[in-house]
Amino acid sequence: MSKKCLNCRIEITERAIGKSTEKKYCSPKCRNRANSKKNYLKWKDTPEFKANRLIKQRIWVEKNRAHFNDLCREKNKEYQKKKREEARTKGFCLSCFKVPAKEGFLRCERCLTMRRDARKKNDRII
Ligand SMILES: [Zn+2]
Ligand SMILES: [Zn+2]
Repeated sequence: MSKKCLNCRIEITERAIGKSTEKKYCSPKCRNRANSKKNYLKWKDTPEFKANRLIKQRIWVEKNRAHFNDLCREKNKEYQKKKREEARTKGFCLSCFKVPAKEGFLRCERCLTMRRDARKKNDRII
């Protein structure tokens, strides 16, 4: 008389069965695996599981959003640099790129004033 493991379908030897005739699995490993599979199937459709999965997804999105934001910031930096170079060759303000810079300065009147004010506030160059 032979029994088969309910998990891996391997034939359970007499020795493995020993005295326990109720043994359903060939090894504790198989029993654990089968139990966790059963638990997973049982748990899969519960609201808790779905909520848990949603949280995991949200965490993933958050992580990736940070990554995407980094990429955008990098691109923005490059864009700003390009704009600044363009403004420099045209003699435009290096802060707003929109109006010609004040004579003898790299920035327009408005931006110079803004920078001066900010410097006063923070007591350091921005
Ligand atoms: Zn097995
Ligand atoms: Zn300006």
